[in-house]
Amino acid sequence: MSETGFYTDERTFWHSTGVQALFLPIGDWVQPPTGSYGADTPDSKRRFLNLVQASGLSRDLYMGGPAEVTRDDLLRVHTADYVTRFKATSDAGGGDLGTLAPFSKGGFEIACVGAGLAMALVDDVLSGTVANGYALCRPGGHHCTADVPMGFCLLANVAIAIEAARARHGLSRVAVVDWDVHHGNGTQSIFYERADTLTISVHQDRCFPPGYNGLEDRGAGAGAGYNINIPLLAGSGHDAYVYAFDKIVLPALERFGPELIVVSSGLDASAVDPLARMLLHSDTYRDLTKTMMAAADRLCAGRLALVHEGGYAEAYLPFCGHRIMETLSGVTTEVVDPVLDFFKAQQPGERLVAFQRQLIDEMAAQFAPAAAARGER
Ligand code: ZN
Repeated sequence: MSETGFYTDERTFWHSTGVQALFLPIGDWVQPPTGSYGADTPDSKRRFLNLVQASGLSRDLYMGGPAEVTRDDLLRVHTADYVTRFKATSDAGGGDLGTLAPFSKGGFEIACVGAGLAMALVDDVLSGTVANGYALCRPGGHHCTADVPMGFCLLANVAIAIEAARARHGLSRVAVVDWDVHHGNGTQSIFYERADTLTISVHQDRCFPPGYNGLEDRGAGAGAGYNINIPLLAGSGHDAYVYAFDKIVLPALERFGPELIVVSSGLDASAVDPLARMLLHSDTYRDLTKTMMAAADRLCAGRLALVHEGGYAEAYLPFCGHRIMETLSGVTTEVVDPVLDFFKAQQPGERLVAFQRQLIDEMAAQFAPAAAARGER
């Protein structure tokens, strides 16, 4: 019961976006790459798994695989039309049914394996098979809406896992905390009018979807107040993230009282990610993981599931992911982040940190106006 789960499947590393330069389709003035196949290669994720094995940490983890994903599992979240088109296009050789979400032949089946990893993890956390855990999903999920794939995301993995858990475990209140550096627009759209799922996205302001900020989008109908966006300035570092979690994420979780916390764990807010401009390092991911574990302990008997989203720094992502797994499991290995001090030295200076905190305070006051008026934190 005390084990931490790590859910992976080799097939997810065989998902291919075809030939891209970073995320640019080849053609017009975009030169085909030599020896590189775009940002969303399997390498960052596979190297994460490989480091967990090389360090020996895997021996202390419950190494899990995917649950089978049925059409019914998909239809709790996606439209029948989208599932049918995705399968047909995949069978016919691949394509792109949305925005920057290309896939190759068999992409549908691989995406189902990825979603199945999230489903297995959430199911095992709820049944007590594992205490907590991480699903190394690929492709990611948080940009995919009910019927439009986007930004490397082909199925809404987190939403599929949550709805499967609702069907099997009668779960009602679930909180999703999305620390991927890009906005979790798909997850937001799926739960936007629902009060049973609190969705919180901490992201780089206006990064992706391009130009999106989201601060004013708080949910609608029954879901009004159950969607929170925390757009942080490009160049935010360790302090801004920790401060935003303390001032906004944690109070929102306390107010909501979830029965399960799911983290959409993109690792693309790192200091060297090619698709964003933040300054996090492995100690930040350790601290954010600790914060989520403490919240889960306090609010929902420790039920915490981390589901992988983006992250494109092949050389560095494994150190952030490995630190998360050490933190979740409480097991320390000999792995040392070789550039931690380098990135710590590059954090924003005092005046910029003070400005970033001021912006976060202003946002926090908007999310908890009553509490702020009483002078509470
Ligand atoms: Zn991302």
